[in-house]
Amino acid sequence: MTSTETNLGIADAAETGAVDQERMTRAERATLALTTDVAQDLAEQHGVCVRPLARRRIDTTTGRVDVVPVPCGSTREDQCRPCADKARRLRAVQCRQGWHLEEEPLEDRNPPTAEQRELLAARADLFVAHTECKANGDMEACEQIAESVTELDAALRAPGVRGRLAPLDPPSAIAKRRSTKRRQDAPNLPRRPVQKRTVGQVFGGRYRPSTFVTLTLDSYGRVDADGAALDPDSYDYRRAARDAIHFPALLDRFWQNTRRCVGWNVQYFGTVEPQRRGAPHFHAALRGSIPRAELRQIIVATYHHVWWPNHDQLVYEAGDRGSVWDSRAKAFVDPTPAKSCPRSTRRPRSWTTRRTSSPSGSRCT
Ligand SMILES: [Zn+2]
Repeated sequence: MTSTETNLGIADAAETGAVDQERMTRAERATLALTTDVAQDLAEQHGVCVRPLARRRIDTTTGRVDVVPVPCGSTREDQCRPCADKARRLRAVQCRQGWHLEEEPLEDRNPPTAEQRELLAARADLFVAHTECKANGDMEACEQIAESVTELDAALRAPGVRGRLAPLDPPSAIAKRRSTKRRQDAPNLPRRPVQKRTVGQVFGGRYRPSTFVTLTLDSYGRVDADGAALDPDSYDYRRAARDAIHFPALLDRFWQNTRRCVGWNVQYFGTVEPQRRGAPHFHAALRGSIPRAELRQIIVATYHHVWWPNHDQLVYEAGDRGSVWDSRAKAFVDPTPAKSCPRSTRRPRSWTTRRTSSPSGSRCT
């Protein structure tokens, strides 16, 4: 061993830039950068996605399979800074170019041509034939029909038809049953048919004002200057946590209600920010103006029903086998049968069928 090699310890690392990990203690090694950190740093430096998704692309003519990295497209900086930055810049450009538009930027869709109609009718006939052949067990004919349908689909796409084309063998989906129950204490929302426009109303022949909205969640109890509860015993921590978890769904519902109520396709730029008390709140600038009274009505009528396991009921104790994901039932189920239950009558305990909480409506400030 030469002297230069033996000297390469951590002490000399600063001089030579090289470290010998074999000679370092566990604590010293813990301070070294991880390969993933280096890769992430490099990606951020070059402005490319730090956690791209690997997608398989199959060439239908040659059968060659390629793995293509697709950017994650996250809008959250804590998940992927380059993608979030890209999204922010795109929003800024969209805002600059679109905010003051006086006419709708999108024109109506082209009417279907005779050729497109003919192709789609032929596809429908093939579809019926495929169902018949399948029922008769004629798999060879089924394959031939499937090939013809693939060709037809390509022919349909070529003259510029977009949208989903029904597959010949649709995967069997379990029908979701949703509750249509309404909360009785929430007022009804006035509804208008939603027009296909995004541009707001003009006032005085030349003014087209915009609206700035801030949505804040209800109070859970009084807090001090640091946002901590003044009376921890009466502060509603449970509701605060539930509201924070379900805030995105509540916001979605708010915009849905807004569009249904005002009758046009409202567009907005917004941001969710944490308040000092830890609750999320939302600022939005929206194109066009909505009367204050109407906005208040929408906010009061906005709530979101959640079907969720009981947060405050202990279902599994320490040492129990927890629930497992059942991909067929698309729910968490209980793996252990009740001892007294005969096997045939055992039913999975589904987490998706129990209703517990519904975060309250948001409040305007
Ligand atoms: Zn990304």
